[in-house]
Amino acid sequence: MQSMLYTTINPAYTSQCCPECNCVSKENRKKQDKFRCTECGYEKHADVVGSRNVSSRSSAEFSNLNKRQILQMLNSKNLTWREQRCYSSAKNGDLHHQSSK
Ligand SMILES: [Zn+2]
Repeated sequence: MQSMLYTTINPAYTSQCCPECNCVSKENRKKQDKFRCTECGYEKHADVVGSRNVSSRSSAEFSNLNKRQILQMLNSKNLTWREQRCYSSAKNGDLHHQSSK
């Protein structure tokens, strides 16, 4: 009997993690029902944030990870998000510089 096909979703950090930039912080969740990301400013009801995070956890990359591995995964995603943000702002700066030449 194959009864282990169902993947358990680890809910670690789903209440503290920003679904937009993957920043994990207790500061994101200062109030019980309100989530506000300290990094990108994403703001939603805490329940909405929690369910977004849980649904993204159902993807294969999160399956069978423990709490510590999940934090590492979220941190690396947050790093990627930061790099992309830096890159796009630097690119805009270049364009601005060139057009003013
Ligand atoms: Zn964020």
